[in-house]
Amino acid sequence: CGIVGIVSHSPVAPLIVDALKRLEYRGYDSAGVATIEHGALARRRAEGKLVNLENRLKAEPLDGTIGIGHTRWATHGVPNETNAHPHFSDGVAIVHNGIIENFAELRTELERDGYTFSSQTDTEVVAHLISRELKSGATPVEAAHNTLKRLQGAFALAIMFKGDEDMIVGARNGPPLAVGHGEGEMFLGSDAIALAPFTNSITYLEDGDWAVVRHNNIAIFDMDGNKVERKRQKSIGTA
Ligand code: GLU
Repeated sequence: CGIVGIVSHSPVAPLIVDALKRLEYRGYDSAGVATIEHGALARRRAEGKLVNLENRLKAEPLDGTIGIGHTRWATHGVPNETNAHPHFSDGVAIVHNGIIENFAELRTELERDGYTFSSQTDTEVVAHLISRELKSGATPVEAAHNTLKRLQGAFALAIMFKGDEDMIVGARNGPPLAVGHGEGEMFLGSDAIALAPFTNSITYLEDGDWAVVRHNNIAIFDMDGNKVERKRQKSIGTA
């Protein structure tokens, strides 16, 4: 129900949890965060309130300097830790708001291809589709773009690749998603309120847009892969 992503040079997990707290007003049943720890994807997830996730992080901290976080409002699959986001497939981590309408046929296709699912969510198909693209030789950006073209429904997504600590891909088709511009660090969030602690310079993606967010640069593309310009706006200011 809420999405946060941060590409930074210092540990992001505490910042992601703070931003998720600002999205609590939307309601949620579970939450999670993933970072890249010494070259490997790592995540902590918890059912219930964000304090449960904070306790998980206290017991087993994450130190990665790039990460994505999520508060979930379950649509497919019960609210529990296994169904909580981020979802992984090989070196791919994703968080998702909304519903992938054609997930059942995509799941059947992926299962025929040998993929096994560890959750009951519609979301997990997206992770496997991206990792299948990577396996067939696509670059991470191509893998994300090719996968987005196959998705029907309403979604906001943030995607992270274990091999690239300088990139989060965000995508919007329905639920709002904004990118936040910082100095040598960049942000992604469901709304300006989530990003307020970090920056007051934000750009809302439009439906069909997807963004490549790096430490020093944000590029936004449309579904055909053409680069597009979207207005930067001053938001409610840094808190
Ligand atoms: N459909 C996804 C799920 O059930 C995402 C729900 C959400 O927007 O939080 O896991």
